[in-house]
Amino acid sequence: MPVKLLEGKIIADQIIIAVGSGVKALKAKYGRAPKLVAVQLGENASSAAYIKAQAKAAASAGIVYELKTLPGTCTQMKTQALIDELKNDDKVDAIILQLPVPKGIDANILVNTISADKDAEGMHPQNLGKVLLGNNKIGPCTATAVMEILASTGLDLYGKEAVVVGHSRIVGKPLSLMLLNKFATTTVCHIATAERGVLKDHVSRAEVLVVAVGKAGVVKGDWVKEGAIVVDVGINRVGDKLVGDVEFEGAATRASFITPVPGGVGPLTTAILMRNTLELFKTRMQG
Ligand code: NAD
Repeated sequence: MPVKLLEGKIIADQIIIAVGSGVKALKAKYGRAPKLVAVQLGENASSAAYIKAQAKAAASAGIVYELKTLPGTCTQMKTQALIDELKNDDKVDAIILQLPVPKGIDANILVNTISADKDAEGMHPQNLGKVLLGNNKIGPCTATAVMEILASTGLDLYGKEAVVVGHSRIVGKPLSLMLLNKFATTTVCHIATAERGVLKDHVSRAEVLVVAVGKAGVVKGDWVKEGAIVVDVGINRVGDKLVGDVEFEGAATRASFITPVPGGVGPLTTAILMRNTLELFKTRMQG
């Protein structure tokens, strides 16, 4: 059976249309559209691309989007002061801190202080705690995007062998909880798995494989199990090309479904950010 490409853009477009309808209805009811504010410290290429995509998606969905850029030399205290100001601004419904932040800034502390009710990325401990308990209403954007992609294949995750490579706070850990909540038999691999030399053993068992590492080709194509669903979250620049963490050509000859990079998880992450913003607005307005 030829491999099917999982193009996140198609699902993302559907989500943006649904968010747009929701925004329209709530604007009619409450007299204003939701507002999402992005906080950026300094500038870098990877967040520049994400910010551009956010502005475009927000415009399509009718969400008010504002970018606040602080200098890369800004201190933790000054950044904190801006986040506090946004938290207390009644017209701001959702906040995202653009990552990565410059050296010397503790992103975790800042993310933890964005209040749970304005946490557009679903990264606040309270929202992560809800994911643990099976409530993904404001789930971390990329992990939620992966779950949407998996749902689009029609696969029932119940009892399936799922392997997540990468255990970051933003992707791997929340995703493994989401898979577990669907009763997938979930294994989480990380740097220590690779250092022990057993990454291939785990990957080759996976019926569902999700890789979020940030190293081009860390998963070899011939490790992929025949018929597996492969979701590649990684984004790596190699020369003038963007590639994922999985060797695409080899993996595509074995997988049943595979995400392209770019055009797989990325566009969906942005759409989920918009959906979270709408959800936060709705919850705040309903008191
Ligand atoms: P991170 O650096 O926070 O975490 C990387 C993870 O990979 C860690 O768990 C680490 O232990 C593991 N790891 C490192 N080397 C490994 C190896 N050789 N073998 C196995 N595991 C290894 O990264 P992150 O923020 O989770 O991002 C991962 C990738 O996903 C990056 O390329 C990032 O750009 C991309 N990303 C994409 C999106 C999107 O929307 N498409 C969103 C977030 C992140």
